[in-house]
Amino acid sequence: MFVGVGASRVRDLFKKAKDNAPCIILIDEIDAGGRQRGAGIGGGNDEREQTLNQLLTEMDGFEGNTGIIIIAATNRPDVLDSALLRPGRFDRQVTVDTPDIKGRLEILEVHARNKKLDQSVSLEAIARRTPGFSGADLANLLNEAAILTARRRKEAITLLEIDDAVDRVVAGMEGTPLVDSKSKRLIAYHEVGHALIGTLLKDHDPVQKVTLIPRGQAQGLTWFMPNEEQGLITRSQLKARITGALGGRAAEDIIFGAAEVTTGAGNDLQQVTGMARQMVTRFGMSELGPLSLESQQGEVFLGRDWTTRSEYSESIAARIDTQVRTIVEECYDLAKNIMKQNRSLTDRLVDLLIEKETIDGNEFRQIVAEYTVVPDKTQFVPQL
Ligand code: ZN
Repeated sequence: MFVGVGASRVRDLFKKAKDNAPCIILIDEIDAGGRQRGAGIGGGNDEREQTLNQLLTEMDGFEGNTGIIIIAATNRPDVLDSALLRPGRFDRQVTVDTPDIKGRLEILEVHARNKKLDQSVSLEAIARRTPGFSGADLANLLNEAAILTARRRKEAITLLEIDDAVDRVVAGMEGTPLVDSKSKRLIAYHEVGHALIGTLLKDHDPVQKVTLIPRGQAQGLTWFMPNEEQGLITRSQLKARITGALGGRAAEDIIFGAAEVTTGAGNDLQQVTGMARQMVTRFGMSELGPLSLESQQGEVFLGRDWTTRSEYSESIAARIDTQVRTIVEECYDLAKNIMKQNRSLTDRLVDLLIEKETIDGNEFRQIVAEYTVVPDKTQFVPQL
């Protein structure tokens, strides 16, 4: 009954724009209508294709300067129909990345306008703490902080609410603290494992805090301060990250024994495997040499690359697996060594963590500095 409505709306839209020229047409989420034609598995979408065809026709119909500018936005430029990107249609592509520190500060200033901030709150400090946040994340962050402030019956948003809101946006809702038990001790060792290795490896991001207060799915958390906007990551940084992520399991293993290791490391291991695999297949950082063996994943579903095939033979696949294992095993050995060599330091940190629930990065580093034993591997120089 309604077939053709989309196309006729597009026609009307352009007619209106021409009547009102000079004029800007803004199409948000253009991938909804502008997906690659004929890529739909199990039959195309006729209505959508007609709409897209109409749009293409209208965009071609410009004679000289009609005073209309078309801007479209999408998160998925990879799935757009190639005809849309041809010269004469969308000529310019502007990539809007997540904002840098200056961008974040300006976005925060906009969202802070209608909120009451305490004098102690510096938007610049928030901007510095939130690399990788998008504009929407930052808006959400300030909203969460405002909600917390109201719930705590305070007059204005203080640093405390901001901190809690950042944690909440990144890791989920805060749970109730665990009661003292064997499993709390185990979680404490797990987190101290992450934090200690993160602190001892020169190439690891510094610890921001370690906490035993559960949040989201996690029973305990170690927060690291990512270096501001680092675009390129070196091989030793990747290895340090893998070793750090294995620190939790390594601590469980060394302290409680192989039979007592827990499912708590599941998420860590997923990250570890992903990073190691990318080192081998995408970044050419293994004995297989500088080869790109897999394209970036995640564009398979109905995108242009719906015919994705692996770009290597089965014998290479086996060698990839071996290389991934080698990297992970090497890092795990290092992690276990560090835990073995710092047993008394680990015990002291765990006691303190159980007592205080949260240790902040500076205090953590101070205690580590009093004890440190150098790990016996040459490629990793300890920080302290
Ligand atoms: Zn962990």
